[in-house]
Amino acid sequence: MTTPLADALARIVGKRWVRSQPAELATYAADGLPTHEAVPGLVVLPATKHEVAAVLRLLHLLEVPFVARGAGTGLSGGALAEAPAVLVTLTRMNRILRLCADSRRAVVEPGVINAKLSEAAAPLGLHYVPDPSSQTACTIGGNVAENAGGPHCLKYGVTTNHVTQVEVLLADGSSVVLGSPQGEPWGPDLVGLFVGSEGMFGIAVEITVRLEPIPRTIRTVFADFMALRAASEAVSAIIASGIVPAALEMMDQSCVIAVEQSIYATGARTDAAAVLLVELDGSDAAVAAETQVVEALLRTHGAREVRSATAPADRARLWQGRKKAFGALGRIAPDLAVQDAVVPRSVLPMILDRIAGIRDRLGLQISNVFHAGDGNLHPCISFDRRAPGEADRVEEASREIMEACLAAGGSVTGEHGVGSDKRDYMPLAFTAPTLALMCDVRRAFDPEARANPGKVVPVHLCREWRRGGEA
Ligand SMILES: Cc1cc2nc3c(=O)[nH]c(=O)nc-3n(C[C@H](O)[C@H](O)[C@H](O)COP(=O)(O)OP(=O)(O)OC[C@H]3O[C@@H](n4cnc5c(N)ncnc54)[C@H](O)[C@@H]3O)c2cc1C
Repeated sequence: MTTPLADALARIVGKRWVRSQPAELATYAADGLPTHEAVPGLVVLPATKHEVAAVLRLLHLLEVPFVARGAGTGLSGGALAEAPAVLVTLTRMNRILRLCADSRRAVVEPGVINAKLSEAAAPLGLHYVPDPSSQTACTIGGNVAENAGGPHCLKYGVTTNHVTQVEVLLADGSSVVLGSPQGEPWGPDLVGLFVGSEGMFGIAVEITVRLEPIPRTIRTVFADFMALRAASEAVSAIIASGIVPAALEMMDQSCVIAVEQSIYATGARTDAAAVLLVELDGSDAAVAAETQVVEALLRTHGAREVRSATAPADRARLWQGRKKAFGALGRIAPDLAVQDAVVPRSVLPMILDRIAGIRDRLGLQISNVFHAGDGNLHPCISFDRRAPGEADRVEEASREIMEACLAAGGSVTGEHGVGSDKRDYMPLAFTAPTLALMCDVRRAFDPEARANPGKVVPVHLCREWRRGGEA
């Protein structure tokens, strides 16, 4: 990467906020997924949307590609930039610009950390619902780009259901405003189109989100099972009862052991084949009635121990193992590949058996922690990429899991996005004309395909990328 470009960027953001040394760039070579790496040409950290616009105008002039980056917690290799692409990191843009109790809206910069928004809204009796397990680190901009989910999205919907307006800077630096603060459904749903676009449509610089009242009563129910299948059947029974829990999460034995051996231990018994967390929220009476039904269903389906809590500190303790499961799993091997796929809830027992078969045949350690209520699986593969052949077996296991989920009527991602990791599975899920249409939509936002190049759709299926010389 040329020094003149670094100098020109420094004139926009200040010298301190341009990274160009190999050691500095190496810090940004991966996101939360260890199986993909790319070193950016330069990293620039603007502080305002005006600086982002000036950076994008400069890159447009010089025809340099770029990649937006939030906290880099993504799990699909989406926030990786390969030189000469410039990484535009938005973590300095971390101001909550407005919080309004009357309209129940917040306007934020993209680098605001998810959990900080709910923290700021709490004195108003409000919170921001989507709660990815990475919420203490990930940014609202990254959540918008990935259409992030989280445990409580079962009842309340994923990010797209909570965003009403986005100001986007397109690849040439020009600004467009999608949606409206109120979020009324008139005209085409451009916010819906942008949410989940994985950084390929431009950079979100100002985001208006809905805030919801904090539920009056919340009860978290914990149950453990001696058979994984029994836990999966309990999940189906709860949903079939008509109750929609705020969250319905599962961890298998391998995951429970990792948690209980870590500082996140919750006191769960490690001989259990699976544990479930069911959260119920609403009025006192509704939560009491639903708790009775849910606890009875858990017991009918073989739960060994059922306990529950309403006090915030006790609930936090029950949740701790689930929320920190990836961290706990990170201790047991040098590398952890967290996968993401969706299946219809009814086939959960079958697909978990298939994953166990793949694990045994390929000699890998695979732990499962997931949003059971949504059928959103996260098989976590612990491995050591330095061990000969191990990374190849991880790749093979991932592909087999994706194929099994698709064959069962599911999809290759539930919430972590396609990024680099799932790109080659896209032709398994979509026809060539559908993929070409995705490329056409992208071109409407970014005719030269300079925003997050090479992600999501395989290059050979994107005609305009070929024209742009990427293939
Ligand atoms: C421990 C752990 C737990 C997780 N749990 C969950 C979970 O429960 N649910 C879930 O959905 N995800 C989860 N994730 C994945 C990840 O945290 C989410 O995808 C999150 O939304 C990424 O946010 P980020 O700020 O880190 O974005 P990054 O990783 O920096 O970027 C992700 C993508 O967004 C794009 N992007 C970032 N900012 C912008 C912007 N302002 N404008 C346009 N594009 C942008 C990037 O180009 C990239 O393609 C988890 C990750 C970890 C490590």
